[in-house]
Amino acid sequence: MAELFYDDDADLSVIQSKKVAVIGYGSQGHAHSLNLRDSGVDVTVGLREGSASRAKAENEGLKVATVADAVRDADVVVILAPDQVQRIVYRDEIEPNLKDGAALVFGHGFNIRFGYIKPAAGHDVLMVAPKGPGHLVRREYADGRGVPVIVAVEQDASGDAWKLALSYAKGIGGLRAAGIKTTFTEETETDLFGEQAVLCGGVSQLIQYGFETLTEAGYQPEVAYFEVLHELKLIVDLIFEGGITKQRWSVSDTAEYGDYVSGPRVITPDVKANMQAVLADIQNGAFAKRFIDDQDAGAPEFKELRDKGQNHPIEPVGRELRKLFAWVKPSDSDYVEGSA
Ligand code: NAD
Ligand code: MG
Ligand code: MG
Ligand code: MG
Ligand code: MG
Repeated sequence: MAELFYDDDADLSVIQSKKVAVIGYGSQGHAHSLNLRDSGVDVTVGLREGSASRAKAENEGLKVATVADAVRDADVVVILAPDQVQRIVYRDEIEPNLKDGAALVFGHGFNIRFGYIKPAAGHDVLMVAPKGPGHLVRREYADGRGVPVIVAVEQDASGDAWKLALSYAKGIGGLRAAGIKTTFTEETETDLFGEQAVLCGGVSQLIQYGFETLTEAGYQPEVAYFEVLHELKLIVDLIFEGGITKQRWSVSDTAEYGDYVSGPRVITPDVKANMQAVLADIQNGAFAKRFIDDQDAGAPEFKELRDKGQNHPIEPVGRELRKLFAWVKPSDSDYVEGSA
């Protein structure tokens, strides 16, 4: 059984006694900054000159500085810039200004696991990774709850790195739900696998194939959209609440029987073999190298794939249909329909 932590296992005064610099004010950065601030922590947001996020952070009453200035003053530096730019920000702006003994906190282990950032021996290196999108991390905290976090210590220079990690996790509200002990290696490899094979890659491809199969057979695209995309949320909510068993209980016996006989015809054992190959490429660093090499070249592959995805025929159908749904409200204030 995994080791779990709750609010009672952590001392909030540890993080309250530190100066914290949060680098980046995106999905995770805004949530960590605001939750820590509301937990009584001294937070400065470190941003690039001319960053579009600057006004947003200032409007929330947060202190904002350049990355270098924020780091110079900080006992704890939280690196929440995009994974592909972290090593550059670290090399150019964080490392040269980092106080002796300052701790580094990550929200995902990518750069440490694959060796793109190699902190000097004197720094605690921690991870507090919420298992949910940043906007939910903020919303749950504001509602008095929290999103579960996973917590790891890669380097314990001070001897108190775990106390700091748990205090930080409490500060962002994660221990109201639960903290799970992990390692940078486990978090990085399972996070990448989950998003690639199941949550993002697997689900997106499944929806697109389902839509293509129905529309190519002559069914109306609007009806196909409802059957293979819209209803997915309702099904996932049931799975979230009570596992696959609750979902099967809630659907009709017809749907449940169809699940048993047709699920394994669609997702065949060779899909599992493909998943194992995806996992191998994560573990051996091939995925990380492909991602970073492409980013360093200006992201031509990434941009081409994003463009292709946005032009899949299911997207315009959904855009038009969602305008007609009174009950669908965008939950992410940064996302504007049709502009991604
Ligand atoms: P994001 O893309 O939403 O935001 C990144 C922020 O960094 C932006 O404010 C951007 O302006 C800033 N930034 C970009 N370049 C910068 C630079 N050179 N110097 C300083 N700031 C810069 O990022 P995110 O999705 O919040 O991801 C941050 C980290 O959190 C990543 O390690 C990611 O894997 C992890 N994470 C994200 C989520 C999520 O909900 N998105 C969930 C778990 C973990
Ligand atoms: Mg994840
Ligand atoms: Mg991830
Ligand atoms: Mg149906
Ligand atoms: Mg049933």
